[in-house]
Amino acid sequence: MYERHHYVGGKVVEGTSGRFGPIFNPSTGEEQGRVALASKAEVEAIIEVADKATEEWGTTSVVKRARVLQNLVHILYREKDKLAEALSSEHGKVFSDAQGDVQRGLEVAEFAAGIPHLIKGEYNDNVSTGIDMYSMRKPLGVVAGITPFNFPAMIPLWMSCVAIACGNTFVLKPSEKDPTVPMMLADCWKEAGLPDGVFNVVNGDKESVDTLCTDPRIKAVSFVGSTPIAQYVYSTATAHGKRCQAMGGAKNHMLIMPDADMEQVSDALIGAAYGSAGERCMAISVAVPVGQATADKLVEMLKPRVEALKVGHSMDPAAEMGPLVTKEHQAKVRAYLDLAEQEGSKFVVDGRDFNYSMQGYENGYYLGGSLIDHVTPDMRSYKEEIFGPSLQIVRTNSFDEAANLPTIHEFGNGTSIYTRDGDTAREFVNRVEVGMVGVNVPIPVPLAFHSFGGWKASAFGDTNQHGMEGVRFYTKTKTVTSRWPTGIRSGAEFVIPTLNS
Ligand code: NAD
Repeated sequence: MYERHHYVGGKVVEGTSGRFGPIFNPSTGEEQGRVALASKAEVEAIIEVADKATEEWGTTSVVKRARVLQNLVHILYREKDKLAEALSSEHGKVFSDAQGDVQRGLEVAEFAAGIPHLIKGEYNDNVSTGIDMYSMRKPLGVVAGITPFNFPAMIPLWMSCVAIACGNTFVLKPSEKDPTVPMMLADCWKEAGLPDGVFNVVNGDKESVDTLCTDPRIKAVSFVGSTPIAQYVYSTATAHGKRCQAMGGAKNHMLIMPDADMEQVSDALIGAAYGSAGERCMAISVAVPVGQATADKLVEMLKPRVEALKVGHSMDPAAEMGPLVTKEHQAKVRAYLDLAEQEGSKFVVDGRDFNYSMQGYENGYYLGGSLIDHVTPDMRSYKEEIFGPSLQIVRTNSFDEAANLPTIHEFGNGTSIYTRDGDTAREFVNRVEVGMVGVNVPIPVPLAFHSFGGWKASAFGDTNQHGMEGVRFYTKTKTVTSRWPTGIRSGAEFVIPTLNS
């Protein structure tokens, strides 16, 4: 049994609230550690440390800040496997997928290492005779990141790399389900040369989140998690005068046109629906074949592959998919699958009782892959996010009917279309009301130099994660209008300055 506490001012600080949460190994069901849950007073003390560090870090030269990010990139490459192993043991995703989690995060560090270029302001000379105008991007101060369980390396790095490169200090409140990797990231930042107090971790629950969303010293809150909490964080933080971006849940559709390459479709769906046991906000959870023949072919091709999915301990190199994160989440996913059956959809493959076959790991939180056909848009199991290893098939008869589904769905995170027809793809890309779209690409997660974000109930606030949107989120613009004595005098002016001179 190990314990995770807080990381403050460059060192681990023991929690004093007396409250702890359990840390499980989802592959075995064993309770392997506990995490301290901070009290309001402890969170306030951490904010104080971060606040004190703002002046020095905010005025550190941009090249020095960039070098810390460059160092961090090298350290993260070196530590990648250690981070992935710790990640896998608390989350349950297979080791190779956990390496990908770290990789996608360190790519944001690579992006943020270019901060001198990214943060450049704008300049116009002689906007009026003898007058120059320029704008610059200034850090906000202390900013907070509140992150979900499903990407414990990538999402803290999405936020902290851009925030810190922009000159802010950062308080991370990671998921209490897998707190070890965020604490390891704190060590990486320190080794990279980041001054103490710039990157801090507070472990906790609602009490920590509420304190971060209301304390006046926190200037911005970035949140990623489920939609109800995203909405709550967005409304609380903005009501307290903070900038906020809050990413929520998803239900991602993949359209399959009759002309699609069905081998490619089947490969794409197996990875995108069942990878990470479906616990990805960009997982494809709904397949939408157009035409009954396309649907029949799809089911025929997917059935044996879903039945043959290799589910196993997350560190088993042969496993393609590990367990779900907790026993509660396993029960929640199973309840949604029961609901899907009660609502009249048909199981082609039923993964509900899979964990009984996990000899030696019967206490792990496993489910097999489920493939569910004849799902209709009025079903609650279709409307809500399941976040497990299941793929629902909604059969449609036309492109219009299919393309309308992701558009009218409450969520709007990702979607994809498989077709050989450029016109159809282009029409879909332009018309669909979803934030991230793939064309013959199942999981269209933007790379670090573009921005990540969904639409509708998948994101609240109007700036995305990383890319230039991240730089804008973590900075405020100051615009300067300057004139040096030139001997030109226009006398006192009582009207608003205009461009007549
Ligand atoms: P969650 O909403 O339960 O937790 C996210 C964070 O909020 C955690 O740090 C948690 O401690 C905190 N939290 C939980 N309940 C709270 C409460 N009542 N009040 C205040 N704070 C609270 O989400 P999760 O289960 O950790 O993550 C899975 C969810 O995240 C899924 O819905 C998934 O789609 C979503 N997600 C979205 C994206 C995206 O970019 N859109 C990315 C990854 C995950």
